[in-house]
Amino acid sequence: MPNPKPISKRIAALAHNLQWAWNPTTRNLFESLDPQIWHATNQSPLATLRMLPESRLAAVNSAPEFASATAQAEKNLSDYLKAKTWFQRTATPAQRRMTTAYFCMEYALHESIPLYAGGLGVLAGDHLKSASDLGIPLVAVGVLWAKGYYQQRVMPSGEVRVRYPRTTFDDIPITNTRKTITLPIGSARVTARIWTAQVGRIPLVLLDTDIPANTPKNRGLTHHLYQAGSEIRIRQEILLGIGGLLALDKLGIKPTVFHLNEGHAAFCALERIRRLVKQGNPIDKATQKIRRTTVFTTHTPVPEGNDRFAPAMTWRYLKKTAEAAGFNRKEFLALGREDPADNKETFCMTVLALRLAERCNGVAELHGETARKMWQRVFNAQSHNDVPIGHVTNGVHPETWLADEARPFYAKHFKPKWNGAGPADDWWKHARKIPAAELWDFRQMLRRKLISDMRKRVREQTLANNPAAAQNQINALFDTLDENALTIGFARRFALYKRAPLVFHDTKRLAKILNSSKRPVQIIFAGKAHPADDAGHAFVAKVKKFTERPEFKGRVFLIENYDMAIGRMLTQGADLWLNTPLRPNEASGTSGMKPPLHAGLNCSILDGWWPEGFNKKNGWTIGNTHPESSRAKQDAADAESLYTLLEKGIVPAFYDRNASGIPVRWAKMMGESMASVCARFSTHRMLAEYAEKYYLPAYAASRSR
Ligand SMILES: *Cc1c(COP(=O)(O)O)cnc(C)c1O
Repeated sequence: MPNPKPISKRIAALAHNLQWAWNPTTRNLFESLDPQIWHATNQSPLATLRMLPESRLAAVNSAPEFASATAQAEKNLSDYLKAKTWFQRTATPAQRRMTTAYFCMEYALHESIPLYAGGLGVLAGDHLKSASDLGIPLVAVGVLWAKGYYQQRVMPSGEVRVRYPRTTFDDIPITNTRKTITLPIGSARVTARIWTAQVGRIPLVLLDTDIPANTPKNRGLTHHLYQAGSEIRIRQEILLGIGGLLALDKLGIKPTVFHLNEGHAAFCALERIRRLVKQGNPIDKATQKIRRTTVFTTHTPVPEGNDRFAPAMTWRYLKKTAEAAGFNRKEFLALGREDPADNKETFCMTVLALRLAERCNGVAELHGETARKMWQRVFNAQSHNDVPIGHVTNGVHPETWLADEARPFYAKHFKPKWNGAGPADDWWKHARKIPAAELWDFRQMLRRKLISDMRKRVREQTLANNPAAAQNQINALFDTLDENALTIGFARRFALYKRAPLVFHDTKRLAKILNSSKRPVQIIFAGKAHPADDAGHAFVAKVKKFTERPEFKGRVFLIENYDMAIGRMLTQGADLWLNTPLRPNEASGTSGMKPPLHAGLNCSILDGWWPEGFNKKNGWTIGNTHPESSRAKQDAADAESLYTLLEKGIVPAFYDRNASGIPVRWAKMMGESMASVCARFSTHRMLAEYAEKYYLPAYAASRSR
């Protein structure tokens, strides 16, 4: 029987399950509505539908091609949702009654949904997608940021311009549940509207306080992600932790395990203790019970990433909840202090989470060790080895980062079965057997696509920042982009410890490497600093200024406004991914896990995930693991190591060609990179580890005691 709904309504319904973010068939349907609008809206299906001219809309609703493509996409989605998942196949009936509530400040699901700032959001978004694919019962909780994260422009002078456009909620695939919650935040009563988004099988609950019932101050609570200022920050964290719990109640969702993804949501555990105490449990017993069912993941050793609040302010905001849970001021503040007896110490959300979660982890093996040392005092441990913080190494969701153009290659060589896949399914291991010529063709195709996308971006951003720029000037600039040159990508947050300008340590030596006429090299940068991080913005400016210098012009580029789309573009096209953090500050880093999906190689400091990923055959390591005595010496030593690698290892491996023009050594490393990284550093492996080592034991503990 034909579906009586207009096609455009059915397309809008399809947009409301974000599975399209990793399903090219559905995305192609959206794009075919109007390719230009689709790209202009950063690939937003609902904005595209809204902006479609009347005549085009009529055509969509009457053309048989759209009817059949829509029916196909609907079938795809329903097949996806009906497939028997790994969890259904492997969990016991009792285990299938587990539901994990996952709390996070940010989610990066797609570039058209600006609810994220960086790596934490990307990881959380990929977490939900793999939980959906694997069928792990999970409900996510977050905030509907009205002005999300900023848009960045970088003037030729290096000046960074920041803009916060307001998101049109009608244009993003969320649903207003028409339910609200009200909670006290300090002396104010704040009402939040509850929205939901659907990510495959996983619901995401989002809170929004920008409604007329609230005062202007409280309406602004959900405007800006990571707004500077500790007062707004603590209020946002109360909303996420305590408001999130109320929202789950309101929707009738009863989670059995709580995963605090970063310390921001730790007040959730306090509120859960309060509830048990209110039901008549003694405080110790209530605390124990809550600890058993709470999982906490810490994501960074960098101090700015671990929120600390003044004790007086913390008590002012949390007094009511803490007292109702049975804690006096001293006892409560002690929960957030490394040394509970130190009345001067600030209140740290990471410490609170560590104390209220029985199961804690870092995000790579090395970061687990760093975190055990960092938080030893919290546990009063004799040795850092006794600190109960484990690790689950991060991953990426392969289909999210995969180029559509890569799918035929995958189909031919890997025969992947995405639907219903398990965490141990590893088709990438076959990459070692792909003939060098075919792998090289694949790589060349992806680099050419990157260069063609880059030309568009460079043209747009040059004209936007300098409307007077002559067309021939722009043409000359992007004509220098070379589709055959070794192309290095560097895209990440411009935090100081990531050291974006490190490669410019010795500009002469770098210029010589880049400008070789026989063996040219180009570097493409992208990245934003935290809005309040002046030193980070200064790094952006510094890199921008280098791109304008004669010896680097046309060899080094900075692409503005780093987001998921630019992340995909660069990680798909780059031959080499550069990573230069100051060890051991990079907890994991996930961008380097993306290039191997497209046979890219890594060149990285042995930090974050790379000590686990590097196997001597799949890339390069910069420097060594012995720290220098000062930051300046460390920079000099690491830069020296990087130049030597480029001169003696990387550039020759890329340019030494056989009689058919194939870089045989490089091709072997490409196969090794794919085979050794893609399965191990996927969120499928990561989710299975969370399920088996954290969620299911927490669930079992909740039932057995
Ligand atoms: C992958 C990705 C990140 C994470 O990168 P790191 O290596 O952890 O710095 C951040 N932002 C975007 C847009 C990404 O795609």
